Formats: sequence, structure tokens, C-alpha cells
Amino acid sequence: MKLHFCGAAESVTGSCHLLRISPADAPTGGADVNILLDCGQFQGSASQDAQNYEPFPFDPAEVDFLILSHAHIDHCGRIPLLVKRGFSGRIFCTDATADLLPIMLRDSAHIHEMEAEWKSKKNERAGKPPVQPLYTMADAEAALPYVSPVLYGQLAEPVPGVKFVFNDAGHILGSAIIELFVGEGASEKKLVFTGDLGAAGRPLLNDPTTIKRADYVIMETTYGDRVHEGNEESLKSLADIIEKTKKRGGAVIIPSFAVGRTQELLYELDKYAQDTGRGLLEGLAVYVDSPMASAATEAFRENSQDFDEEAKRRMLAGDDPLDFPGLAFTKSTEESKALNLDPAPKIIISASGMCEAGRIRHHLKHHLWDPKASIVFVGYQAEGTLGRRLIEGAQTVKLFDEEIAVRAEICNLQGFSAHADRDGLLAWVRGFKAPPEALFLVHGEEASKRAFAATVEEATGIRPFVVERMVEVDLGEGPPAAPAGTPPAGSKVDPEDAEDLARRIGGVKDNLDDLLYAARMRIAEEADRAGRAGDAEGARAAEEKYAALKNVLVSLEKDTMQLARQLAEKDKDADKASVGE
Ligand SMILES: [Zn+2]
Ligand SMILES: [Zn+2]
Repeated sequence: MKLHFCGAAESVTGSCHLLRISPADAPTGGADVNILLDCGQFQGSASQDAQNYEPFPFDPAEVDFLILSHAHIDHCGRIPLLVKRGFSGRIFCTDATADLLPIMLRDSAHIHEMEAEWKSKKNERAGKPPVQPLYTMADAEAALPYVSPVLYGQLAEPVPGVKFVFNDAGHILGSAIIELFVGEGASEKKLVFTGDLGAAGRPLLNDPTTIKRADYVIMETTYGDRVHEGNEESLKSLADIIEKTKKRGGAVIIPSFAVGRTQELLYELDKYAQDTGRGLLEGLAVYVDSPMASAATEAFRENSQDFDEEAKRRMLAGDDPLDFPGLAFTKSTEESKALNLDPAPKIIISASGMCEAGRIRHHLKHHLWDPKASIVFVGYQAEGTLGRRLIEGAQTVKLFDEEIAVRAEICNLQGFSAHADRDGLLAWVRGFKAPPEALFLVHGEEASKRAFAATVEEATGIRPFVVERMVEVDLGEGPPAAPAGTPPAGSKVDPEDAEDLARRIGGVKDNLDDLLYAARMRIAEEADRAGRAGDAEGARAAEEKYAALKNVLVSLEKDTMQLARQLAEKDKDADKASVGE
């Protein structure tokens, strides 16, 4: 089994690793199996951008399937190119990632097309040939039919002897830690790929799953050398800024990534307001001004099965955790422009997060000069971006060919990070019950990887392998087949796992109890409303809702019976075993 690091090796972006499995490693049917883990875009400097155009260090047509950790562009951004260059296997990802992926890839294609158009015009004036986009909208669309969603915790076996499971990584909705099993029985080997790991205690999302055993681990180290402020402190600061700006009669402008950060902010703002008696958002309109953020919010709603317990509880009590009084999603550019004509105090959340493109630039133009306004940064601002210049205290900035004075209050909140910090990463490594054979550190600047390697070695005795170049490593020839007469290896299901399964069934039962209560109230209420004369539209809406509810219920009934059948089957096996003895 060979592992080739094809990206996120020299820097943070371009996550891409190729696993080559030979028939000696698994009963694959005689041929090599090539599995790609992520296919991300390189981002940042011009030289990193140039890497995107280079050939893949493998033949895309030879890749059997792709397992995608999550929908961030540095993990999925080169998928359209992979397909364009010959890949035709399945793209496995979680349900939520499957819903977020089209939004991300279409946006990325749009940016590539715009950039190419702009550069081509420039080249034309200089008498140079036009520039081709990295990929087009049509390329992005062509990649989407290969997507094949798998739920968290479900074991999938795309080829004989190769299985995988997605575990929640708590980084963005749908993000997964991938457990990959190669081979069978005593010679089975397990590779774990973290994708990106989230911080514990994030809003809406679960904490990253602890993995107890692995032979090989590929781990991210974005913040391997840093400890960041907690979410709670940043939220408190945000609330203070909102209060202050509201008193001044100004607008709060929040540049935010459209997917993930925006939805988490909405959830947190609402929760904070509820917990503190609604005062914070009283009389304040909150606008999400980004078509991409609106689409992503819809994808979040569709995948509420992945929310954390707290958010699920609120949903079961009948509250939409991504909606609150005063919240509006703008659609047209006209609506967006109208926001800046209305002088009432408000919050505008808009993209892009680093202020390099999108509607946020219009809002900055209209508010940066205003000493009553506040601009609040809630995410990382890369070198060379407008966001970075603002947090570094620029006195004036240029927007749409106009010099704008910076008089608004600029705040930079760092506690909303989507990545685990050094302590979070170390806590995750400590989750292993036995040290893995090899721990590979990727997805970090060199200093961060080295510092984290030292931290891990000191704390656990494990000596990680710092990946610095796009190298290929041999994961061993695979252990020899077990000689005849060797007793089979013991079960890999530990009592704690069984306990966990029982706890989750209990959780489903509790949720159903809550639902039963809500359903009794709601169905009676709606039937009553629809029954009133003259409300034909209301009656139709109630009918549609009833049909949708019934569809979900029918599949729930089927799944419940499947669960019962599986448990019964296990009993049968046990009976057989005891009869045999
Ligand atoms: Zn990510
Ligand atoms: Zn990443």
C-alpha cells in the first residue's frame, strides 16, 4: 500500500492524497485500486495559484474513486478539473457535503471565468493571447453527477476489501474524518484521514469524533502552533459592538464566508439574544446579503440531522435555529442597494469574507467613512487582501476607483475559528488508545507542522512524520496472510462502542417523544385552520405539508424495522453458536 501526498504538503491548501492499494493488500479482484482523498485547489500566492494548472501527479483516469472530506475549496476545488482530465469514478462524501458542493463549485467556476475574462481583456490590450479559465461552469456541472452521498457512521464498501466510514469532524457542516479499512480479518489495516478538524464547543456543530485506533493517520495542522480565543469571548465582544453601534445609530457590517460562518453567526446571534431576553436584536434588522449564503442556509436546513444536540433540541421544540424575528435574506441587487439608502441601524452580513469580491465591497464603500458604523471581521484575513489592510489600520482604501476614508470602528474577532487550535489537535491525538504506526502531519505551514510534531512527541511519545514535499511513502508490504489454523482476530467492536450505539438509540427515542408532542399540537392546529371556509391555499399548503411529513415518516418506519431486524439477526447468530457448542 502506497500513499502519495499530492497537495497540502508544502502549505495549507490543495488537500489531495492518493492511496494505491495492490492485490496483496486486499482481495480487490486482481487489480490495483487507487483512491483519492480530497482534490483541493491551491490558494494564496500567485505561485500557488499557478500550481492548479499543472498536471496531477497521477493519471485521473486511473483513480477508481474519490473520498471527499468536506466542501471547502482547498479540499474540493479541483474536482471539475479531475473529471475534465479523465476521472469517471464515484465521489463519496456526506449528505451535507453533497448539498454544499454544487454551491461551492459553481461559485468557484464563476470566479475562474470572471478572472480569465478580466485577464484576457488586459492581454488583448497588450497584444497577448487570451487566458483560459482553470475550469468553466460547464466543467463544474459535469462533475456533479459523480457525487454519491453516504451518511455519517454508515460502512460503505465500494470495492471488495476496501471499506470506509465518515465520522463528524465538527469543522463545517458535513465535514468528515475518514476511516478507511483495507484488507480483511487479521491483516486488515486502517488509515484515518482527518480532513480539517473543528474546535470543540462550536455552535450548531458536533465536536470532532474521537478515533481510538488506527494504523496510519493523515492529520491537519493549520493551527498546530497557536492557541486561540474561545468562541464565547468572541461572541460576547460581538454583542458589545452591536449594542454600542446601535446606540450610535450606525450599521454593523460583517464580512463573512457565505458557507458555514454565516449560518453559525445567525445561530449564535439568535441564541445570545434569546438567552439574554431578546434585547440585543430588538428593533434591529439583520440582513444576509449574499445569494450564496442564502443557498447555503437552505442546504443547512436540509441537513439538520448533522446539527449538534442543542440545535436539534431547539428544532424539536418547533424553533428554526437559523431564523429569528427581524432576519431577512436579500435576493436582487436592487434590494442589496436599497439597504444602503435606509439610515436605520442594522446588521449586514455579506460576502466575501476577506472583502476581495462580492456585495460586501458596496457596503464597505457606503459605511467605512461613517464614524457611527462598525466593521466586524469574524474570520481569517490573508496577506494582501482588503480585509487584512483594514484590520492593520489602513487610513484610506480604494473601492470602485474611489478613495474612501476609514472612520468606522474596525473590530477583529478571532474566536470563531473553524479549526481546532494546538490544544484541540493534541486532545484529538490523545484519543488514540494505542499509538498509530505512522502519524503524518499535513495541511499546515512548515513552522506549525514542526511545532506540533514536537508538542505531540513530548506529550504522547509518538514521533510524527512531518510531510514537507509531495512525496510517496510505502505503508509496508502488508502483513503475510495468516497461516492455517491461526485463531481469528478478536472482535474490533469494543464495549464502549456498543454502549455508544445504545446511547444513540436512546437519543432517537427521546427525539421521537418530543416530536410526538409537537405533532399532536401542530397537526390539529393546521387541520383546523385549513378546515375554515375560503382558505383554499391554506388547505393546499396543509396537504402538501402532510404528504411531506408522511414521506419522512414512512422511511423512518422502515429504518426502525431495519434496526430491529439487524438486532434480531445478531441474536439468531448467537443462538446458532450456542447450539453448536
Ligand atoms: Zn476546511
Ligand atoms: Zn482545509
